[in-house]
Amino acid sequence: MKIGVLGAGVIGLTSAWWLAEAGHDVVLIDRAGGPAAEASRANGAQLSYRYVAPMASPKMLGQLPGLLFPGENAIKVSLDRDLIGWGLRFLKACTGAEVARTTAAQLALAELSRMELERLLGKVPLDFGLRTAGKLVVFRKPSDLEAARPEESDVSDVLTPQQCLALEPALTLRPDEFAGGIYTASEQVGDCGAFCDQLFARLGQSNRVELRMKTAIGRPVTKNQRMIGIETDQGIIEADLFVLSLGSGARAFARSCGFNLPIYPVKGHSITIADGGAPALMHSVTDYSRKIVYAPLGGATRVAGFADFQGYDTTPSAARIAQLKNAAADTLGLQASNGVEPWAGLRPMTPDSRPVIGPSPLAGLFLNTGQGMLGWTLACGSARLTADLVDGATPSCPAEPFALARFG
Ligand SMILES: Cc1cc2nc3c(=O)[nH]c(=O)nc-3n(C[C@H](O)[C@H](O)[C@H](O)COP(=O)(O)OP(=O)(O)OC[C@H]3O[C@@H](n4cnc5c(N)ncnc54)[C@H](O)[C@@H]3O)c2cc1C
Repeated sequence: MKIGVLGAGVIGLTSAWWLAEAGHDVVLIDRAGGPAAEASRANGAQLSYRYVAPMASPKMLGQLPGLLFPGENAIKVSLDRDLIGWGLRFLKACTGAEVARTTAAQLALAELSRMELERLLGKVPLDFGLRTAGKLVVFRKPSDLEAARPEESDVSDVLTPQQCLALEPALTLRPDEFAGGIYTASEQVGDCGAFCDQLFARLGQSNRVELRMKTAIGRPVTKNQRMIGIETDQGIIEADLFVLSLGSGARAFARSCGFNLPIYPVKGHSITIADGGAPALMHSVTDYSRKIVYAPLGGATRVAGFADFQGYDTTPSAARIAQLKNAAADTLGLQASNGVEPWAGLRPMTPDSRPVIGPSPLAGLFLNTGQGMLGWTLACGSARLTADLVDGATPSCPAEPFALARFG
């Protein structure tokens, strides 16, 4: 089959690879000049296979009113029309039962992702700083640590502040500044942008894959209620099937196809600080209260965070970048004077934080999008599941939780 993959972020690139591997001819289309031009470029670098809980939760319900007021909150919200419809679905997902359903589904997809990434690297060695660095989540409030304490876990350890500082000497917090931490040794880090660059180069060497960059995607071309092509500024591109992986652009495209895809762009920021002076970070660290993650990337530290519900603008906010620099200085003693790359991207978020993977209401269009906060972690598993479902094979993990039908 000839398959058009729409979007060359980490989700489109991995979809293209897994579909080509399954024997399909693939044409990968993106408006940018190269891969990972948007959310996949400079994200938090966490391959966070165990931390997959959704954003919508009973606890979040209580925090919502405060988010509508300006301030230094880790989450900021400005209401617009798209967000109101999305927000009503988000409220519906704030139940214990929904959190349990999502967590179980995401854990299975994340585990598949870990295995598929390993399998990919067994075939094509890619150099993107992948390390099983372990993840340390530090909690400033004792109540947050208690709420997160694993009931019974063979994968995570609860640590005192002193144990956290001994484990991660780069931390410059005082023991009385935080309540403790939870450490998961199996978690990984890797530079998503570098992974995308290298996978893109490999795709370019495949005789099954055609790369169509600098090609802006417009409306679908349909015949007998089936999508048979796509209008672009470079002309119509035809294929037997299309996979929608346009990140935050997916919702507008779905609208042009006549159906609603509840994806909202949730803006996050990052800075990449060249190492020098302060001891280099050894593990990935999450500051739970500030919702900021720190990742060691061989010679640099990536600092990322925040969730701003404020539309489609991708310009980094000076205030958010300053917050990240201050956090890096007082948590790791990192001085931004070494050279900082500021960045912002839009996470394609669904109300329940689960991606949408499966057929769409328009025949000929398949969905693999909406990975939100976890697109890097879930990419290889999502691509595998996409290839399974496209081929009618037994899915490698439960597919039903990711069907668009869950939104009614
Ligand atoms: C600050 C931040 C930190 C994050 N940290 C992590 C993390 O630590 N771990 C993790 O797992 N995930 C993380 N994420 C989430 C992850 O980065 C995203 O989920 C993932 O990158 C989404 O990939 P995507 O391919 O769906 O979208 P994108 O990377 O945005 O790709 C979409 C592509 O579609 C193209 N496109 C859009 N519209 C059109 C059009 N009309 N025509 C042609 N092309 C078009 C764009 O050019 C783009 O290349 C983070 C995100 C942010 C913003």
